[in-house]
Amino acid sequence: MYDKLYRNLLLPFFDGVLKGRQSVAHWHRAEETQWLSREQLEELQFTALRQLLIHASTTCPYYGDLWKSLSLDASSLSSPEDFQRWPLITRETIRQHRLMMRTTSAVKRMSKATGGSSGEPLQFDLDSGSNDRRTAMMWRGYNWAGGGPGTRQLYVWGTALRSVPAWKRLKMDLHHRFDNHLVLSCFEFTPDKMRRHFERMNGYGADVIVAYTNPLYEFARYLQREGLQPVSPKSIIVGAEKLHAFQRELIEQVFQAPVFETYGSREFMLIGAECDKHCGLHLSMENLFVEILNDDGSPTTPGCEGNVVVTDLFNYGMPFIRYVNGDRAIAGYDLCSCGRGLPLLKQVVGRQLDTLDTPDGRKIPGEFFPHLIKDFPAIRRFQVIQETIEQITLKLVVDCGQLTVVDRENLLNAIHECTGTVVDVRLQFVEDIPLTKAGKLKVVVHAV
Ligand SMILES: [Zn+2]
Repeated sequence: MYDKLYRNLLLPFFDGVLKGRQSVAHWHRAEETQWLSREQLEELQFTALRQLLIHASTTCPYYGDLWKSLSLDASSLSSPEDFQRWPLITRETIRQHRLMMRTTSAVKRMSKATGGSSGEPLQFDLDSGSNDRRTAMMWRGYNWAGGGPGTRQLYVWGTALRSVPAWKRLKMDLHHRFDNHLVLSCFEFTPDKMRRHFERMNGYGADVIVAYTNPLYEFARYLQREGLQPVSPKSIIVGAEKLHAFQRELIEQVFQAPVFETYGSREFMLIGAECDKHCGLHLSMENLFVEILNDDGSPTTPGCEGNVVVTDLFNYGMPFIRYVNGDRAIAGYDLCSCGRGLPLLKQVVGRQLDTLDTPDGRKIPGEFFPHLIKDFPAIRRFQVIQETIEQITLKLVVDCGQLTVVDRENLLNAIHECTGTVVDVRLQFVEDIPLTKAGKLKVVVHAV
């Protein structure tokens, strides 16, 4: 009932009339364009790409000068393949040239910052019109999971509320009520807090749970361990952190509801989301041009992972053109059986930074550790610190404070099997491992 009222009346009034935004109109259009054929969508996308390049070359000094020096003429762009001649940019490019990357034309801009899950926050600018478009993409993606605007949602989210002034907290609370959301913070996720969350969650009876992946997994493990049965939502949307297959399995088992993976970032909001076929993540292609590239800049071959490179087609305020965001993914090539023309990202592999080095040159993917730790139910949270190339510390939050001797031995043996015995592995038992400011858990930390 409320969701219909919200979608048809409250949201258009609040967003369109009061705030003067176009999000609702963009959303309605995106609900239609998703059913266009791949060719039609590619045509729309390419037109937007060309317009963006012409805008950037004529009004953004950084792009204009750089492309001129490389003899790249935006108006001559002939195909998506031709776009591969354009140079890539990184976080470092933005850090160094942010002001020169802004447009000189009159566009309403807003400043944003990434949460800095890689340890380094990044300031950037955003065209406010493009913000409406990305909001629309998020609504559409969540809608695939039954979590469109106005549905009763419970968030298990990285919100640090302690430093927020009371008036602001009240405003946020009213906003959440208006949106039909209840937000539970995943900071300081102690057993006591999880118990309270469980009670609130069951009292609330959400249709959809929206959560950061790791805290929800941690929560699901807690519920399973304590034998607590949560009220099942219709679906669960997870994001902000990589979702492993074993995490999906456990969350679905504990909550008795399907999990929908989403992938996004502060720079672009929703990049991709799963539909109910769960065959990969449909890309927000009307808004973004996403490429998966090898280290040498060539496109990956089917089934191989590569670097995620994103162009935001509508951020005219400070264009992101061929931005290497630091994530790794596998591109999809097939059409989804749901009938949407939107291409798929087959799998998000994770952040490139999350690897450990060993003296004999091995690179241990950070993924190794969540897989290993899942077999030790007593471990609630963990973090791996590469102190030096010869030494790693595994910080552990364990339920009863310690691991059994057998568990310790098994854990160390499994790590040594992977790293080689020359690496000194230390276990450190701690009370808590704080999340980053953005509410994420950093799995691998490089102290050096
Ligand atoms: Zn689909």
